[in-house]
Order: sequence, then C-alpha cells, then structure tokens
Amino acid sequence: MLLSQFQTIGRELSSRGLVTSHSGNMSVRFGERMVITRRGSMLGCLTEQDLVETGITRNDRMTPLASSELPVHRAIYQYTGAQAILHAHPPHATAISLIEQEIVPRDEWYEVIGRVPVLGWGLNLKPGCLDSTVAEELKERHVVMLYGHGSFAIGQLLEEALSFTTVLEEASKVLCLLKSLGSGNLPQA
Ligand SMILES: [Zn+2]
Repeated sequence: MLLSQFQTIGRELSSRGLVTSHSGNMSVRFGERMVITRRGSMLGCLTEQDLVETGITRNDRMTPLASSELPVHRAIYQYTGAQAILHAHPPHATAISLIEQEIVPRDEWYEVIGRVPVLGWGLNLKPGCLDSTVAEELKERHVVMLYGHGSFAIGQLLEEALSFTTVLEEASKVLCLLKSLGSGNLPQA
C-alpha cells in the first residue's frame, strides 16, 4: 500500500520531467519514524528495496541508506506539521531561481502557493544543506525553492506535496513564457 503510493508519485514526477532519472526524493512520517526513498534511487521505478525506514531524530542501521537530503526531511518533520515531503527539480522553477530571489505566480496559482522564496540565493548548495532554513520557511507555506537546485513541498499526503510541486512548475512555466513574449520583467506581484 505504502509502496504503491510512492510508486504512483514517483512515476508522476518522472513522467512530468520534474526529476532526472536518479534525482529527487520523498518521505512520509509515522510518529517519530519516517519512510524515505533510498539514496540514489530511481523515482520512476521504485521497488520495495528503495524505501528506507529510519528515525526523525535518531539514527539507526538504516540511516546511511536514506536519501542524501535526509537532514532536510528530518528538520521539516521536527519543525512543521508536515506528514509528507517531496523534493523535486522542476526545470522552469529552477531557471527562475537562478535570476530571482522569489517566484511570484502571475496566474491563478498565486492563490495556492503565494510568493515562493528562493533559499540559499547565490550559494553553492550541497545535498542536505539549509535544513533549518527550509524547515523554518515551510512553517508558513507549502513549497520553497533552493537556488539553482529544486523544490521542497509538504503536505498531509505525498499527493498533496506533488500538487504543490506541479503548481509551482506550471506557474513558473507561465512566467518564463511571459518573459519570452516580452512581457516580463519577472514581476513582483
Ligand atoms: Zn535535489
């Protein structure tokens, strides 16, 4: 049951071009434990061996197998009410993150995700970094971007986190189209 949820979301991310073959990660919380995708797993074709259960505050023998973004997932679960987390590499949002310090949708999606901050702006970000900064921002919102890297979205379910991720990417695509049409100065709404 849990595996099929991960597989469904992984396939969606992969088929929508929101991750590369071996990037992205996701997790679901169970009290003080979580199930997270394995380090280096392929989200488009997950198997039982790609799901790793480990602690939110405690390490165990499975911890080294978890995604390299584990510190960020742990911080988010410690500081927010999230029950599920999804990290993706949406290309249009990533492009905007390289030139703007926040992503401000110009379309209907502003009502859903509001202004999305770009964290770590100008820095050379390594996996697992900015954990407390990402968690702090996600107390107030559903999704954030990391400079030149990707998104972290939260929800009560993986599907909800996926929805915020696709909304961010679609809004970003519209912003890029507006810019290509000459009507943008990427706006500060
Ligand atoms: Zn990443």
